[in-house]
Amino acid sequence: MDNRKKPIAILREEVASQIAAGEVIERPTSVVKELVENAIDAGAQIIAVSIEAAGRKSIEVSDDGSGIESDQIRLAVTRHATSKLSSADQLFSIRTLGFRGEALASIASVSQFVILSRSENETLGIKLTIEGGKEISCEKIGAPVGSSISVKNLFYSVPARLKFLKSETTEKQRISALMMRYGLAYPQIRFKLDFDGKTVFQTNGNGDRREILVQLYGLEIAKKMLEVRLQDGDYSVNGYISPIAITKSNRKDIIFFANGRWVQDAALSSAVLKAYQTMIMVGRFPITVLFLDIPTDQIDVNVHPTKAEVRFQQPDAIFSLVQRAVRRALLAYNPVPQLSSKLWGGYDSQNSSEETSWTSASNQVNGENPASFFSSPEGFPGTHESTQTTGTVFHSLPLLRLIGQIGATYIVAEGPDGLYLVDQHAAHERVLFEKLISQMSSKIPSQSLLNPEVITLPPNQAQILSGRLEILNKLGFIVQEFGNNSFQVRAIPALLLGLEPQAALWVVVEDFEDDETPLQQKTEEIIAARVCKRAAVKAGQILTRPEQEALLADLERCRSPRTCPHGRPTMVHLSVELLEKQFGRKGSL
Ligand code: ADP
Ligand code: MG
Repeated sequence: MDNRKKPIAILREEVASQIAAGEVIERPTSVVKELVENAIDAGAQIIAVSIEAAGRKSIEVSDDGSGIESDQIRLAVTRHATSKLSSADQLFSIRTLGFRGEALASIASVSQFVILSRSENETLGIKLTIEGGKEISCEKIGAPVGSSISVKNLFYSVPARLKFLKSETTEKQRISALMMRYGLAYPQIRFKLDFDGKTVFQTNGNGDRREILVQLYGLEIAKKMLEVRLQDGDYSVNGYISPIAITKSNRKDIIFFANGRWVQDAALSSAVLKAYQTMIMVGRFPITVLFLDIPTDQIDVNVHPTKAEVRFQQPDAIFSLVQRAVRRALLAYNPVPQLSSKLWGGYDSQNSSEETSWTSASNQVNGENPASFFSSPEGFPGTHESTQTTGTVFHSLPLLRLIGQIGATYIVAEGPDGLYLVDQHAAHERVLFEKLISQMSSKIPSQSLLNPEVITLPPNQAQILSGRLEILNKLGFIVQEFGNNSFQVRAIPALLLGLEPQAALWVVVEDFEDDETPLQQKTEEIIAARVCKRAAVKAGQILTRPEQEALLADLERCRSPRTCPHGRPTMVHLSVELLEKQFGRKGSL
C-alpha cells in the first residue's frame, strides 16, 4: 500500500454530492420519502407514486403542488439550495418536512434523474435531465402545474451501494409502509401507490383517518380502534390506539408523528407500552397511531439527515402526556358501549395524575375490610400504608354491591349502572398481582413454612431456576439450592399463603411466551403474574360471603381492575339499559 500522503484537495461537487447522498439516500424508500415530502411541502392535494422493480429500475412521483419557477429549476437540484429556510434560527420555526436542501441534489447525483415542473405563474413548464450529477439537458416544455420527478437506475453511478439493498419484497414493504404512514398523517391529500403498474394503496383525500385505518388493518380492527385526544398546555396528542384485545407480536405498529413528521423514538414507544402495562400480555404490542402537536421552538428536527429522529426540549412532559392520553383512552373504553365513562370516575380532570388519584381512592376504602384471605393476611402489615395524597378521589370501578356467587365461579354484583359478573379467579389474580408488585418496591413480607420443602426438578429446569432464584427471593420466597437439582423452599410470600411451593417453582421455570428475552423488570412481572395465577382462588371454589365482599372491595382498589395480569377480562357488565331492552321494556333489540 502506498502510504505517501497525498496533497489535500477540495472534492469535486459531484463527488461531494455522491458522498453526501449516502446519508440521505440509503435505498429506494429514501427516494420515495424525500420526493413525497417535497410534494407535501409544495401543498399538493394529489400525490401519485409509481415504482418499478421495487424502485431499482424506476421511481416516479408526481404532484399538483406549487411547481418550480423555470429560472429556479437548476437551484432546486443544487446541494444546500432550499426555499424553506434562510437562516439557522429558522430551524426552530420549521413547519415544512424538508429544510436541508439536500434531497434532489443527492438523488440526481446517483441516478438518471428527470424533473418536469411548472409553476402556476408560467405558461410553459421546464424539464431538466441529469445523469450521475451531470446536466444532460434543460428545456421548456408544456406541462400541467405541479411537478413530476422520475428517478431511473438508482445507484447506477455508485454500484457499491447496490450491494447493500435488501430483497425486492422487503423494499416494497418499506415503501408501502411509508406511503401508508403519509396517508394517515395527511388524510386530506389523495395518495396513490403503484407497483409495476398495479395500484396497491390509494386514499381518497376526504380527511377521514378511520377509513385509512380500514385499509391498513381491516374493517374489524379499524372500527374497534379507540380515539385518543389530550391537550396539556402547548402540547397536544391525538390519534388512535388498539383496545387491549387487539395486539401484535412486534412493535412496528406503534407509530408517532410530531408536527406532521413521522418520528421514531424509543422513549415515546415505551411511554405507550407503560400505559398498556399489565393489561396486555407480555411480548404482545398494541397498534397506536399518535399525532403530537408541539410548538416548533420546542422540537429539534435537525438531528439526523433523514429527519426521522427529533429531540424534544421537554421530553418528560411529552412522554407523560402520551402515557396519560393512552391510559385514559384505554380506561374510558369498555366492552358494553352504552355505559358512559362518567360512571367510572372523573377521568376528564386534566391536572391530576391517575396514579395519585388511585392511591387516594384506595385509602378511602381501606380499613373497613372484612378479615379474609383476600386482604392483608395476618402478620403482614404492609397493605394499609399507602401514602395519602390529597385531590379528587377516583374509582376505577363503580362501588359494587354484592349479590352472591353463582356456579362457585362468578361473583354477581350490582353497580349503579347494572349487573356485574366477576370471574373470581381472574379477579383474584389481578388483586394478588397488584399487591405483590406494589410491595416489591419495599421488601415483600415472607411467611416461613412449618416444614421446609425440598423439590427436585429435571436438570434443564433446575438450571433455569438457578438463574432466577434472585427474582424469586425478591418476590418474597426463600429458596435455596440444595444440590443435585434440588431446591429447598423455606418461605413463601405472606400474601400468597396457601400456595403450594412445588407449583410456584414450576411456574418460574416454564417457558416464556415469546422468544424475545424480556428485561429484568419484565421477567419479574411475568413471574409475579404466573405465581399469582397459581395462588388465586380457582373456579369451582365456594367462597364465604365476607370473602366475596373482600374480593370485590380489593378489585375496586386495583389500578387495572378490568383485566387479569394476562390480559383477560375479570368481569362482564350488563347495563340496566341492556336488561330493559332484553325484557322488552324499552325499544327493541
Ligand atoms: P428541501 O426539501 O430540503 O428544501 P430538496 O432538495 O428536497 O430540499 O428540494 C429543494 C427545493 O426544490 C425545495 O426547497 C423546493 O423549493 C423545491 N422543490 C423540490 N421538490 C418540489 C416539488 N415537488 N414541488 C415544488 N417545489 C419543489
Ligand atoms: Mg426535500
